[in-house]
Amino acid sequence: MRCDKIIKIIEDWAPKSIAWEKDNVGLQVGSLRLEVKNILICLDVDEKVVDEASRKKCNLIISHHPLLFRSLKKLDVGKDKISRIIEKLIKKDITLYSAHTNLDFTKDGVSFQLANRLKLIKQNFLVNLSSDQNKISVFVPSSHADKVAEAMHYAGAGIIGEYTNCSFRILGTGTFRGSAKSNPRIGIQEKIERVEEIKIEVLVNSFDVSKVVAAMKQAHPYEEVAYDVYPLANSNVNYGMGVIGELTKELSEKEFLRHVLKVLQIKNLRYAKGLKTRIKKVAVCGGSGSDLLDAAIQSNADAFVTADVKYHTFQDAESEILLVDAGHFETEIPVLNELKKRVEKSLTDKTKVYKYSGSTNPIVFYNN
Ligand SMILES: [Zn+2]
Repeated sequence: MRCDKIIKIIEDWAPKSIAWEKDNVGLQVGSLRLEVKNILICLDVDEKVVDEASRKKCNLIISHHPLLFRSLKKLDVGKDKISRIIEKLIKKDITLYSAHTNLDFTKDGVSFQLANRLKLIKQNFLVNLSSDQNKISVFVPSSHADKVAEAMHYAGAGIIGEYTNCSFRILGTGTFRGSAKSNPRIGIQEKIERVEEIKIEVLVNSFDVSKVVAAMKQAHPYEEVAYDVYPLANSNVNYGMGVIGELTKELSEKEFLRHVLKVLQIKNLRYAKGLKTRIKKVAVCGGSGSDLLDAAIQSNADAFVTADVKYHTFQDAESEILLVDAGHFETEIPVLNELKKRVEKSLTDKTKVYKYSGSTNPIVFYNN
């Protein structure tokens, strides 16, 4: 399968447009036109990852963290680690693609997989992304309402959480008068026409607007389609940061910490004691989620599991919420299984998908 087709599988799930504006998701090195042999997925790329890809005949690496994040002024393979990785990728003809904050912010992405590991039920985004949605209203003769709506839904319109094909329809009367140069489907030139029409309203992600409008026009019978696109101030329920959920049964603080160690298969974690002694409602954010501490407290979570927590953030949390730092690598690694599963499911040939067999976690705990 061609690389761009494989990337489409990922971006249909985690659209690039929802990524953090300063992020650098997408193609890092190589070509999207490449015919993919096998695929290696990992959190980070280093030289060992590229070597393993080469051994396993993988010419596509999909990483979570982008290799190119800070600006690169020169390629100095003698001194610079990133330059050496790029050199190796190019010499071995391997393409590197990264899905970072778009994978963090999508349903079933990084934080949902962490929540699954912690066996949380009733999962929902902790904070929804601020609006990047539009509403499209289109006026269609009744006879074609279903056809036009279907085309728009197929192009991605009308998705609200677990519901698809969402629309609202109002019956009314449309009027128009075509010029002498017009070619009206209904009525005749230069005569005012009154037609029973349906106004269809649908929600559309801003990055899908042009696709949906094109599909709408294609399915619409009129020469000139009357429609409106307007921006919304609603938060977007389809994308967000962090996840909130519940344990199936209440645990003591100690039991919960033991549970975190066990399900993430880790030996160490850092934490600050919370307000409650019994833990049931839990917020999580894979990777650096300290900015979501207030949201976790406001959502009445008993505990918040994330990573990269600073001393003063622990201070802010103390006696408010049980704040657990379970490690950046450790809270993000669960997403690789879901990524592997989704890519494998959509492959139409014998391409194999491997998870990197080693660890790219640079942090080591020292015990005497
Ligand atoms: Zn990360």
